[in-house]
Amino acid sequence: MLEKLENDKKRLIEYWLKNRVVKDKRFIEAFKKIRRENFILEEYKEEAYVDYPLPILEGQTISQPTTIAIMTQALELKKGHKVLEIGTGSGYQAAIISVIVGNKGKVITTEIKKSLVDFAKKNLKKAGIKNVKIIHSDGSSGYEREAPYDAIIVTAACPEIPKKLLEQLKIGGILVAPVGSIFLQKMLKVKKIGKNKFKIEDLGEFRFVPLKGKFGWK
Ligand code: SAH
Repeated sequence: MLEKLENDKKRLIEYWLKNRVVKDKRFIEAFKKIRRENFILEEYKEEAYVDYPLPILEGQTISQPTTIAIMTQALELKKGHKVLEIGTGSGYQAAIISVIVGNKGKVITTEIKKSLVDFAKKNLKKAGIKNVKIIHSDGSSGYEREAPYDAIIVTAACPEIPKKLLEQLKIGGILVAPVGSIFLQKMLKVKKIGKNKFKIEDLGEFRFVPLKGKFGWK
């Protein structure tokens, strides 16, 4: 099985580089380093590097590798950055970010479901990741206590850009979130260029599980 995983992984990286899906070498390094098979359920491990989302617990999913690549790259991460994630899920996205921001950086990730908090904790421990802090809470209002952040990533579908998250972003910081209907969203990259000034870029259509909580879907 290990050989299949390595081959699939290599093929994905080649595809990204050839088609210029990923230009950020730091993402490729992190992707090589973190074993995705450690973040998915036993029965899907063989499919760890196939390019589609996989079920985790509670009807939630770990995003497909290409989606993770596009979102991570859009965050324009640097070593030492402090990053907030909404929707820990398996903990994989947080692990990838934590490698890129390095020891001096920090990832705060919020998850609304207790069973997924436990799942992610276990997975991150297996991967030997130490600079990720998981918060069991509704992240739709962000996490004020550690604000402001250099980057914020939402990995669940938002009905609109959560205002609280924009408030918790540093000036010059970037928020990446899928925004739209419950069935289809546009991936928005929002750069905060002034206290109340933003530059919005549309990265294309995606489909995520819904954001719950105060500023999510009822
Ligand atoms: N980033 C994850 C995948 C996320 S799936 C990974 O790498 O595996 C979306 C997750 O968002 C689910 O686990 C869901 O429970 C969580 N979620 C939904 N609404 C939330 C909210 N308001 N606050 C925090 N987490 C939320």
